[in-house]
Amino acid sequence: MSKNLSKGYDGQTGIVIRFDDIAPNMNWEMMDKCEIILNKFNIKPVLGVIPNNKDEELLNYPVKEKFWDTVKKWELDNWTIAMHGYTHVYDQETNKMDFFGYGGRSEFCGHSLNEQNSRLKKGLQIFKENNIKIKTFFSPNHTYDSNTFEALINNNIYQVIDGYGLSPYKYKNIKFIPQLFYKLFMLPYGIQSTQIHLNYWKNEDFENFEKFIEKNYRRIISLDEAFSKTNNRFINKFINIFFEKTLKFKRKFF
Ligand SMILES: [Zn+2]
Repeated sequence: MSKNLSKGYDGQTGIVIRFDDIAPNMNWEMMDKCEIILNKFNIKPVLGVIPNNKDEELLNYPVKEKFWDTVKKWELDNWTIAMHGYTHVYDQETNKMDFFGYGGRSEFCGHSLNEQNSRLKKGLQIFKENNIKIKTFFSPNHTYDSNTFEALINNNIYQVIDGYGLSPYKYKNIKFIPQLFYKLFMLPYGIQSTQIHLNYWKNEDFENFEKFIEKNYRRIISLDEAFSKTNNRFINKFINIFFEKTLKFKRKFF
């Protein structure tokens, strides 16, 4: 972030712009429009790339040739490329036994450590073949279990963008950035991440995004900046637990 743009950022309040479901098939028209506005404000977002997309619903979107060249271009431009699942196909029920208690279907949570390890390895191999470095992961449908975390560590991934709280925190050697709301929403305090699904966007959503960026760009930070704020002080732990309890109930309404 340039000096000019970081002016006004107090170090305690910030938001990371996270895009989900980045794959060869997606709403490229929206992506192109977002790219223009992000570059205009020198914002470095996180792109959750699905390395081997087999999700039937997502495969319906227009395909981009030379997808990996585009991903490389983003990486060279200091956008963060994160791994978002392997195939994005949900083949397990979590029965609400997932780490964050969201429930729903899952690609990782519920599978054996071996299987989760293997999915991660196969996904990472695709990134490697395309010369993309991966340090960060977030799971399709926010679903994790202890095997997911163990498999991530086995594969040298120590950063996850998901979970409750008002500041980045560390658990089992993994650093987390909280992801609280479905809608674009700037809290008056704390560091968190958005989740943006361009495939579902209409023009109105883009206009809202544009307004959000224009209003909040001083508080939009890169993933590295966010992780540098990792804080395990008692007071933050307390706030994070408080938010977990309240949001587990309220989350679906935001
Ligand atoms: Zn997804």
